Amino acid sequence: MNQHTFLALVKNAAAAVSPSASASSRRLPSLHAIYTKLGFHAYARVTNGFIQAYCATGRVTDARRVFDEMPRPDTVSFNSMIHGYALAGDVRSACHLFDHVPAPTPVTWTSMVTGFCRAGDVESARRVFEEMPERDLVSWNAMISGHAGNRQPVEALCLFGRMMEEGFAPNRGTLVSALSACASAGALETGKWVHAFVERRRLRWDVFLGTALVDMYAKCGAVDLALDVFTTRLKARNTCTWNAMINGLAMNGYSAKALDLFRQMELDGAVAPDEVTFVGVLLACSHGGYVDAGREHFSMIYNKYGVRLILEHYACMVDLLSRSGHLQEARKLIAEMPMKPDAVVWRALLGGCRLHRNVKMAETVITEMEATCSGDHVLLSNLYAAVGRWNGVEDVRRTMRSKGIEKVPGCSSIEMDGSIHEFISGDKSHPSYDDIHGKLVEIGGRMQQQGYVKDTAEVFYDIEDEEKEQALGHHSEKLAIAFGLIGAPPDATIRIVKNLRFCMDCHKFAKLVSEIYHREIVVRDRARFHHFRGGICSCNDFW
Ligand code: ZN
Ligand code: ZN
Repeated sequence: MNQHTFLALVKNAAAAVSPSASASSRRLPSLHAIYTKLGFHAYARVTNGFIQAYCATGRVTDARRVFDEMPRPDTVSFNSMIHGYALAGDVRSACHLFDHVPAPTPVTWTSMVTGFCRAGDVESARRVFEEMPERDLVSWNAMISGHAGNRQPVEALCLFGRMMEEGFAPNRGTLVSALSACASAGALETGKWVHAFVERRRLRWDVFLGTALVDMYAKCGAVDLALDVFTTRLKARNTCTWNAMINGLAMNGYSAKALDLFRQMELDGAVAPDEVTFVGVLLACSHGGYVDAGREHFSMIYNKYGVRLILEHYACMVDLLSRSGHLQEARKLIAEMPMKPDAVVWRALLGGCRLHRNVKMAETVITEMEATCSGDHVLLSNLYAAVGRWNGVEDVRRTMRSKGIEKVPGCSSIEMDGSIHEFISGDKSHPSYDDIHGKLVEIGGRMQQQGYVKDTAEVFYDIEDEEKEQALGHHSEKLAIAFGLIGAPPDATIRIVKNLRFCMDCHKFAKLVSEIYHREIVVRDRARFHHFRGGICSCNDFW
């Protein structure tokens, strides 16, 4: 056995395992013994192979031992070790080692960027990225996907723009990250630009890029474009591709179409549905109010397809049952859940209680939840307000104060001329605020002519009484809609992404604006899409 054959053995042992499979990772230590005995540590390549193998199997401490025993670790040894720490999310050790690298290469820097991103510390990653003496494509990709993967889509897209300006040609990896950032930010124009770019460069729509494109269009509310890509462009489809389309249809309120597509997936038979597929299917049933179809699909998840039931499936089902007034059945389903119900599940039941004015059940639900989310209390408070129990409202308000629960501020974003504008409820800091305010006054006037009365019940007691009217005027989605009316071309659809659910009043507001100004408005809120056209919303006021 020479160093080459031995190195092959080490690589094999690492490749054969995932970190969890213990059987073959036990081969590494025995190989390690041979390595010491036969004097292979004289060969840096073999030693580096060991470091990489240990890191790849999650044994970073063992890797470090090998590293420390090296008389003169080379750049590859350092890079491998830093990469290992990065994979393990051990940023501190990575940084410490980084300071001792004699001659950092782009790989060394990139390992640091990846490490910080993995550990969720994007700020530090960005600092390292900006300090890099020269950047290669890998480091751009690491940073862009780092932003995109840590819920900073706007930063990801800005960086993507800068990368193009600096003359780096993006590869598939970059484009997938950019599309996923467009999807989360609702940046349709930028997404279309990426689409055109891929066509122009004649890049192949492989399954990853294709799925990212479908997902982007669907999440930006452009369902027709998503469907067009899905049906005419994509030859390669995997489960994720179907999932993107089914979930996209469901989110956008095309419930029947989503279920049709699921049937098509079953008939096609090329790929099997998974957990995510059924989240989409149940979401479709829930948004469409299809109780029977919901029950049927829910039972087939495990019984027909052997797919594990996850929390989201229960959440959708509870939501469907609760909305349609089957509150007891929903309650029973929660009791039967094999896992602990989370706030989303409880909130679905609570939402149903509110819709069907069942105060009694709502109260027991609230006591059962270990309430940490402000939304739940706000819901209960709104429910009390809706049935006129003002002392109940007061109690909830006191509980929220004593527990230090704060209302999450509403935030809506809109893309305009390639950049994304964010509006926070009540915030006046946007440079165009005066114009926006003027527009809101104008809209208000035209609405009053149409006999519109503000629905103030929703915001009862979340804010002081006298501020109520004012605050309604300044909800983030209203600011964004007004901004869209001012800035977007006359026939362009106004597209908005909102972090919370729509309130009743803003929903009514959007409907009227779509009618009075002959504008299509598409809003993605926390739960679903609303397509407003001619005074009507695709959700049929059921959300
Ligand atoms: Zn609102
Ligand atoms: Zn709606």
